[in-house]
Amino acid sequence: MTYQEMDTQAWQVLDRAHYLHPFTDHASLRQTGSRVAVRGEGVYVWDTEGERIIDGLSGLGCVNVGYGRPELVKAAADQMSELSYCQSFFKTTHRSAVTLAEKLTSMLPDSLNHVFFQSSGSEANETAVRLLRRYWNLVGKPQKRVIIARELAYHGSTHMAASLSGITPMHFAGGDLPLPTVTHIKTPYQYRNGFGMDPEAFGILAASWLEERILEIGADNVAAFYAEPAQSAGGAICPPMSYWPEIQRIGRKYDVLLVVDEVVMGFGRTGKWFGRDFYGIVPDIMQVGKGLTSGYLPLSATIISDRVADVLIEQGGEWAHGYTYSGHPACCAVALENIRILEEEGIVENAGKVLAPYFKAKLETFADHPLIGDVRSVGLMGGLEIVKNKATREAYDYEAHIGDHCSAEALKRGLAFRANGDTMSLMPPLVITTEQLDTVFDIAREALDATA
Ligand code: PLP
Repeated sequence: MTYQEMDTQAWQVLDRAHYLHPFTDHASLRQTGSRVAVRGEGVYVWDTEGERIIDGLSGLGCVNVGYGRPELVKAAADQMSELSYCQSFFKTTHRSAVTLAEKLTSMLPDSLNHVFFQSSGSEANETAVRLLRRYWNLVGKPQKRVIIARELAYHGSTHMAASLSGITPMHFAGGDLPLPTVTHIKTPYQYRNGFGMDPEAFGILAASWLEERILEIGADNVAAFYAEPAQSAGGAICPPMSYWPEIQRIGRKYDVLLVVDEVVMGFGRTGKWFGRDFYGIVPDIMQVGKGLTSGYLPLSATIISDRVADVLIEQGGEWAHGYTYSGHPACCAVALENIRILEEEGIVENAGKVLAPYFKAKLETFADHPLIGDVRSVGLMGGLEIVKNKATREAYDYEAHIGDHCSAEALKRGLAFRANGDTMSLMPPLVITTEQLDTVFDIAREALDATA
């Protein structure tokens, strides 16, 4: 049978036999079979059955400019034709990596001037942690080793990134995690950690959990605080505006470095270019990925402040760290073209000024749905938390897999709508229209009604 002759079932048979999917219950997949995606354009993806799905999730929070942009295909093809690969280990460089590094630093505060490239968000977090160790060793404070991260954080699937993550199944999946030098504090998740409080007072309280932990461990032992500006995989947890300035103040007071994981929030998700712009954060180290190339090719960047980079450069000698695909030419060329599209088409500005208020207003109409206990959003990331009992905020038993049922109902109706635990998440491409958002929310409501 040729590739063209294979129908959905034939693909599903091969898929089941050989392909292990990420974050998937394969026993369940064996019963349902996979949907086989074949094509994408704008905010839509089509499958082998000819069904059109509106992607309410931008893939995995990455397809910010939408699917099928020919300019990005051309940027990759041109770069591959000219110079398909270039390592940067042995005093060699190439133009697209240098141009991209300069471009990224020009979009950020003056203190962030240095860029290290990897292929994924997880690897960017490995880079950041190795860099923290290296930095504190070089400045003569090797005992500053503990990293304070947060419950429900997601930083990736490599050993260290999973350890930093605060979603507990990440710890069981690979054994012996979190590592002893990582500790987790509660998050600014008001519905569960500060219900009924004034939001700004709650932001200050949530930041005080960082100070409390620093004092417990001793500031001399703490390397960094590690966090997403707003948490996506943890269930769309968006802090009050008072949270980040207070975190920043506490970090400075105890000389605890601030690492901000912008892998999802970067490149417009909050309606500003970076989550740091939205919340007013000046990190010491920051990671971007996903939306950097709109998911067209794998690339992430660790962006490093002068404070850290100067020590590494002036005192560190060779830093034994790097990847074969650090600064891959085609990935960098696509990132540059993606940023050009975002800038020239005013996509981030439109997401912040036009789409985000519309999205928020639509999301908030779900507050009186019998299944929804809490509604949260920032920019074009939103969450609807399903509860069993709205009065008591009691959650469904884990075995009920209530969010997964809702996702399946949405997919039947043509919407990708993800369950993060019991929170139904939406992060549509930033090029979605208000009419398309109407369809997203109509289907989301039908799916919830069918779940109730
Ligand atoms: N950091 C955050 C905030 C993420 O949401 C993710 C992935 O969802 C990662 C890091 C890991 O990125 P990757 O899957 O590219 O390794």
